[in-house]
Amino acid sequence: MRKRLLWQLFPTYLLIAFAILLTVGAYVLVSLKDFYYSQLTGDLEVRARLVENLVEAPLLSGDLAGLESLAGRVGDISASRITLVDPSGRVLGDSHEDPARMDNHAERPEVREALMGKTGQAVRFSRTLNENRMYLAVPVEAKGAILGAVRTSLSVEFIDQKLLSIKARLALGGGVLALLVAIVSWAVSRRISRPLEEMRLGAARFAKGELDRPIEVSGALEVSALAESLNQMARQLDERIGTITAQRNEREAILYSMVEGVLAVDKHERVLSLNEAAARLFGMDARAAIGKSILEVARNPELAGFVKRTLSSQEVLEDDLLMKDPQERYLQTRGTQLRGAGGEVAGAVLVMNDVTRVRRLENIRRDFVANVSHELKTPITSIKGFIETLEAGAIDHPEDARRFLAIVSKQVERLHSIIEDLLSLSKIEQAASHEAVLLREEAIAGVLEAAIQACAGKAKEKKVQVVLSCDKSLRARVNAPLLEQAVVNLVDNAIKYGGAESRVDVEAVADLFEVLIRVRDRGRGIDPSHLPRLFERFYRVDEARSRDLGGTGLGLAIVKHIAQAHGGSVEVQSAFGKGSVFTLRLPAA
Ligand code: ADP
Repeated sequence: MRKRLLWQLFPTYLLIAFAILLTVGAYVLVSLKDFYYSQLTGDLEVRARLVENLVEAPLLSGDLAGLESLAGRVGDISASRITLVDPSGRVLGDSHEDPARMDNHAERPEVREALMGKTGQAVRFSRTLNENRMYLAVPVEAKGAILGAVRTSLSVEFIDQKLLSIKARLALGGGVLALLVAIVSWAVSRRISRPLEEMRLGAARFAKGELDRPIEVSGALEVSALAESLNQMARQLDERIGTITAQRNEREAILYSMVEGVLAVDKHERVLSLNEAAARLFGMDARAAIGKSILEVARNPELAGFVKRTLSSQEVLEDDLLMKDPQERYLQTRGTQLRGAGGEVAGAVLVMNDVTRVRRLENIRRDFVANVSHELKTPITSIKGFIETLEAGAIDHPEDARRFLAIVSKQVERLHSIIEDLLSLSKIEQAASHEAVLLREEAIAGVLEAAIQACAGKAKEKKVQVVLSCDKSLRARVNAPLLEQAVVNLVDNAIKYGGAESRVDVEAVADLFEVLIRVRDRGRGIDPSHLPRLFERFYRVDEARSRDLGGTGLGLAIVKHIAQAHGGSVEVQSAFGKGSVFTLRLPAA
């Protein structure tokens, strides 16, 4: 298990302190002991020399009788034990014992040395006195002969006691010192470990992402430098994270506001990210799509195939893809490889432009051109044919010529009305798209009367009765000539398709929000299958019948555009066999 720094430093300090203390203590004790012993040795030697002088004469003369009492006296005076031996080791006198009861001392180490002419010394336990003693013996020499030896001896108990008390004091001092060392080393260890601990907590904070609280810079130079470096690192990290966040927000804002769908996939064709537009294209929540395979998200094999091709191609690919789910859409798609930090292929990015509207408009334009050409071709072919017939000689037959010219004239009339209708349609469209349709508050009844008046001829021809019902006070913001044209077209149709001798009702009513203008006929009505396309240009229920009646197929398209230019709409209700009601809805003034 890993220990805290404090618990590594503190015992080490303590150990070192104790080792030093023990060494010094042991050294002091040994030195002291040596010192006391050498003192004692000197002391004993002086005494021995003194006694040597005293005993030299008796030993020379062989007068040994007084030696015993001498030893006793000197022993008393010097408070030490004095022993005198002859060269054979026999005890001649002893201050503390009867020599007769003492054994031969020749084998005592100090005596042996002395009898060999040297100073002998020994420390040992004396059984006679029952204590540790130091013995020192010197030879008694005269005229080159050894006459005997003087041995002095003192107790060493007092040294041992002294050393013991010094030991006790040392131990006490050592204990106090150890306590002091412990306190100091604890403090030092904490001083070292506390800033490190602080740094550890700080680094843990940084790791958790709390980069705004720096570490307190304290402690030793190395430690504070480390703290400073960590703080600097945190500052840089914070800055970098800030930059990355700002960049990410910027990128997200760009992607979010883009009309084009942007989609990133990894190399396993799983969605990494997609913007709102892309999510809308796939009819899916952006967050739910992340991590799913492209096939799951787009449900389109064509798109999945495009992703595959992009992943394996170095070039920017472009293709128009048709999406069927959730709606039919044309996607102009560009794909580029996405590269990782090492330049390897990490995925692909697709930018999808929804060109459905453009495609649809293109189709409408194409159909329109085809329709116009087709509409114009019929009368022109007919005119051309009759002119050729006239040229071929029919002109010489006045009756035929007149009949043919009448047909040519009818066809020219037809061309004229088609072109007239096309022109007014494009004018209205243009004005509406530039919001240039001038609206003024007008009395609706006046406009409707004018329209009915314009159709009066045709009505009379077919004996159709046109009945107006409109409050004179009803007013709305309209463009009078345009509205009149729209109503004329509706009334004209009602007369044309309403059947002879019938009745057409034109009425206008208003509620809080709208003005409703209704044109009702009692003709044979329109089959519901035609209703959705009725207001398209050149759409006719019965082509031949419409042509016969001089219709261009543009009348209702013009009505629709006029309604839209007013901010309103037009609708139809029809029951086959019962007649139709066309309703113009205009916003109230
Ligand atoms: P057209 O010039 O052929 O009348 P419109 O655009 O005015 O062209 O009308 C389109 C088609 O709608 C007509 O061909 C006709 O078949 C049908 N239609 C329009 N008004 C009526 C109506 N009141 N009753 C029955 N059919 C109608």
